[in-house]
Amino acid sequence: MINFDDKIRDKCGVFGVFGHEDSAALTALGLHALQHRGQESAGIVSFDGKNFNNQLYLGLVGDYFTKEKVISRLPGNASLGHVRYSTTGKTLFKNIQPLFADLLGGGIACSHNGNLTNGIELRKRLIKEGSIFQSTSDTEAFIHLISKSKEKTIVKKIIDALYEIKGAYSFGLLTNKKLIGIRDPLGIRPLVIGSLGNAKIISSETCALDIIGAKFDREIDNGEIVVIDKDGIKSYNPFPNSVQRSCIFEYIYFARPDSILGGKSVYKCRKKMGMQLAKEYETNGDIVIPVPDSGVPAALGYSEESKIPFDLGIIRNHYVGRTFIEPTQKIRQLGIKLKHNPNKELIKGKKVILVDDSIVRGTTALKIIEMIREAEAAEVHMRISSPPIKFPDYYGIDTPKKEELLAATHTLKEMENKLKLDSLHFLSIDGLYKSMGLKERNAIRPQFTDHCFTGDYPTELTDKDEGILSSQLSLLSDS
Ligand code: AMP
Repeated sequence: MINFDDKIRDKCGVFGVFGHEDSAALTALGLHALQHRGQESAGIVSFDGKNFNNQLYLGLVGDYFTKEKVISRLPGNASLGHVRYSTTGKTLFKNIQPLFADLLGGGIACSHNGNLTNGIELRKRLIKEGSIFQSTSDTEAFIHLISKSKEKTIVKKIIDALYEIKGAYSFGLLTNKKLIGIRDPLGIRPLVIGSLGNAKIISSETCALDIIGAKFDREIDNGEIVVIDKDGIKSYNPFPNSVQRSCIFEYIYFARPDSILGGKSVYKCRKKMGMQLAKEYETNGDIVIPVPDSGVPAALGYSEESKIPFDLGIIRNHYVGRTFIEPTQKIRQLGIKLKHNPNKELIKGKKVILVDDSIVRGTTALKIIEMIREAEAAEVHMRISSPPIKFPDYYGIDTPKKEELLAATHTLKEMENKLKLDSLHFLSIDGLYKSMGLKERNAIRPQFTDHCFTGDYPTELTDKDEGILSSQLSLLSDS
């Protein structure tokens, strides 16, 4: 029997440099700026003109890639890196990316941000056909498909493989001659190109270009393959034209606020979400308190619009990782206690309006509200700058299965009671689109993918439809 127990769902960061003598050091810096996209492992593969070199670690970029000896093991003018997040209980060395394989035409390294919705089906088929998998990651199926293609050139082989995969993917690939960036036909996950002198960069987000002083050139289009080599850049569009539907959750929570996505400042969007929230539900409060750090821009917007003063009523310890990352419920709860502390003086006797960007399981909200109550707030009202998350994500964001999503299993009143709130409100879906500078959600052709809120999944979910994905998701929950 094939055991997919430790299949991971990657919610990750991709960064690559082509044509710079310090490519590995620059990649390490880029990955450091993308650390929010994944804290579990970090890896870099470089090509030195003759050989591929790799350094892969479990842990944070800064723990390893700041060391001179680590960078010195990554010579060459081209490098590709990856930071990975996964929420299975198992953290496996063999899953650290970039994955690397020797193909007929030479080596290939692959970094993936996203999740293939037919990854398990493909993997089963490939194993039946004789493929030997070394990792439990769906990314590896893509490499097998490239390897098996009968086409002659690497780009054609890649296109062959792309025709077989479904779901969300932003890939970085490094061969002995090329650095390649690919976005899925809907452009669900982000990927951009930049320049540093004559060197070319690919990155999940623009904030990682800023850290190395690189210039933002453009986003890779949905369905586009960008091939960078010594002759310059070539672009291929192998899919029938489709309208982009990037993931709206990047704007709500996932991307760094100083990044520009789809031409929009993530920070400004978040602030507008807070403003819109204040417009939708007028509340009589004394103080607006963000859940740090993710709730800060929306709380600032809420305060600006409502004219209720903003203050830092919860202090966050920055030396603790994102609590959501911890795999078991027990550790998650412990993590939250380690992470936040109330600013008691500020809270006592006040009508508090608490702002966060989202509620997933409700673990964070429950703990924070308890804290605010213990600090003797007169009233606690919670405002969430996104709609209720009612549907699981299958595209690499890593929200849990439906039964664990608080808003999927509780009504607004039940959530209010469970969280011991005086009131709870979420941003409306049209309000979310308005905050993004649009009129409202276009019901016929939505401008983003917002499946977490609407259940409107924009791709086939082959693994799920075959009952594989949902059983896999249970493995991500607490054991
Ligand atoms: P929860 O505690 O499960 O309700 O998660 C909600 C909190 O986690 C909020 O403070 C969010 O900022 C944050 N969050 C939302 N989505 C994610 C995600 N996919 N990964 C990590 N954290 C998240």
